Amino acid sequence: MKYTMDVKMDVNTNRFTGTQKLEYSNNSPDTLGKVFYHLYWNAFQPGSMMDERSRRQGSVMIRGGRGESPDWDGRVRDRIANLKPNEMGYQKVTNLLMNGRQQKLIEHETILEVVLDKPILPKSKVTFELQFEAQVPFQVRRSGRDNAEGIRYSMSQWYPKLCEYDYEGWHPNPYVGREFYGVWGDFDVKITIEKSYIIASSGYLQNPNQIGYGYESAGAKVVRPAGANLTWHFIAPNVHDFMWAADPEYKHVTKTVRNGLVLHAFYKISAPHLQKAYEALPQNVKGRYKDVTAYMADYENQWKNVLPEAERALPFIEKTFGPYAYKQYSFVHGGDGGMEYAMATLLKGPSIGTVIHEWMHSWYQMMLGTNESLYAWMDEGFTSYAESRITAWLRKSNEWPYADDYAGYFFLVRSGREEPMTTHADHFNSNFAYSLAAYSKGCIFIEQLGYIVGAEVRDRILRNYYWQWRFKHPNANDFIVLAEKETGMKLDWYKEFWVNTTKTIDYAIDSLWEENGVSKIRMKNIGLMPMPIDVQLTFKDSTTESHYVPMNLMYGSKPVENSSVSRKNYSAWKWTSPTYVIETTRKLTDLRIAEIDPSQRMADIDRKNNRLELTW
Ligand SMILES: [Zn+2]
Repeated sequence: MKYTMDVKMDVNTNRFTGTQKLEYSNNSPDTLGKVFYHLYWNAFQPGSMMDERSRRQGSVMIRGGRGESPDWDGRVRDRIANLKPNEMGYQKVTNLLMNGRQQKLIEHETILEVVLDKPILPKSKVTFELQFEAQVPFQVRRSGRDNAEGIRYSMSQWYPKLCEYDYEGWHPNPYVGREFYGVWGDFDVKITIEKSYIIASSGYLQNPNQIGYGYESAGAKVVRPAGANLTWHFIAPNVHDFMWAADPEYKHVTKTVRNGLVLHAFYKISAPHLQKAYEALPQNVKGRYKDVTAYMADYENQWKNVLPEAERALPFIEKTFGPYAYKQYSFVHGGDGGMEYAMATLLKGPSIGTVIHEWMHSWYQMMLGTNESLYAWMDEGFTSYAESRITAWLRKSNEWPYADDYAGYFFLVRSGREEPMTTHADHFNSNFAYSLAAYSKGCIFIEQLGYIVGAEVRDRILRNYYWQWRFKHPNANDFIVLAEKETGMKLDWYKEFWVNTTKTIDYAIDSLWEENGVSKIRMKNIGLMPMPIDVQLTFKDSTTESHYVPMNLMYGSKPVENSSVSRKNYSAWKWTSPTYVIETTRKLTDLRIAEIDPSQRMADIDRKNNRLELTW
């Protein structure tokens, strides 16, 4: 697939017009009588599905750490309902041709249906040509103009984007503010905009010496064409999205971090916006700065630190998660939080955790490309796992980095609002349950897999998952089948319980006794999800014993994780059996602690009963 686009932005009206040529190959075995495009910005109109959904969530009250609050996204709330005509967004396709012939268009708010006059046959190729016009919405969510940090344009989801057709058919997902899925292709994009604007984008700039602004080759003399505008020409090969951002006050820095990879950062130090941000700081944070000038200097230093930190993390990232496949990545000040795009991210600020998180989406969203609407946890969850692991490595911390992810999941379980991770991202009853399922429970999926198969084997699974499924849109099954091949174990049960249901894990130490000189320890399965069990016994003389009970659905055992400790292995605990007895030849009165999973990687919802401390 290949997009060729040419757009002209009017910075006075915040409107642009564009042409798009899309060369589309039907690689499926199916005959296509229709195609669908996304028109995301039509969501930013009063009464849109996104507006209705957000306002509805505003009436759902969620009990959090600090009392009750509405379930809506604090950035969206009822703001769409209040947009004035010049603040709304829209995307209109004014004319669409297939192979030169006019096609019938049916607009469904954020989805454009194209009824084709002739079907596209399997293994054939067609060319779509369209004209479109759009108004950049006032920044509400992800894209827009004039965001809270004063960035003029955050241009994501800005062009008519073909929906994905895969083994499940078309995915014409109306936009209600959530996840994305797209088709890989090559982008060739020309953007014409007023000369003072500096553009950051998903693509490689093709005319750097006509542009300058930090893009020019070393020592080159920048010669800009005459006129009030500049035309920027970008190409982005093999991506499934194209984002750009523009502001006249961007500072642009670059760093070559390894052979074949240049990182860019674009940020804006806007005095009025930073003054406002400084005044809004909580007292205890504000107190750290002498005055607003000190605050601004610190803010700029944090931005300057982004590329060196990214460079420092890169070798660890590539060793653990696989190589970054493109020649460029840009950290761009814009948007309203942190949001991932192809070869770039929009960041509200320079926090390193968010910087790493959004960059890691390049692995799970941009290179692997799971359908995020259906498997948000395979994108947000895996990305959050990587973020926690990498940021701990950057801090040189020896602490286990997933405590917050587990705490988030336990909070979700206690709330009674949990829904299965198989729920479509748009269809969760609450944003609260969506977020904790996708980010926290999804992150635990990986860390807990390490408990089941062993951490080293889990790491091998992650690397092979990357190599086998890069640029292929894996689903949950694909991951599990790969993990089964890597381990020789059956792991379908892990997906069935952890992903498809809200069943929880709760094991306990039940009772102890001595029988014919052998000490027996009985464990009990109280929960509804079965797991293999690690038990550690600690004796009065401080020696320990490690016991391991696989679970019968695994048809296998985890390899010994810590080779310096000998492990006593048992036959499998059948998932239907409520109890299991392990034993030791040490005297019961010598035992001080019996503990199930001292690593705490198993997401047992009641840990109090996992550990028995004895006082004889
Ligand atoms: Zn994310």
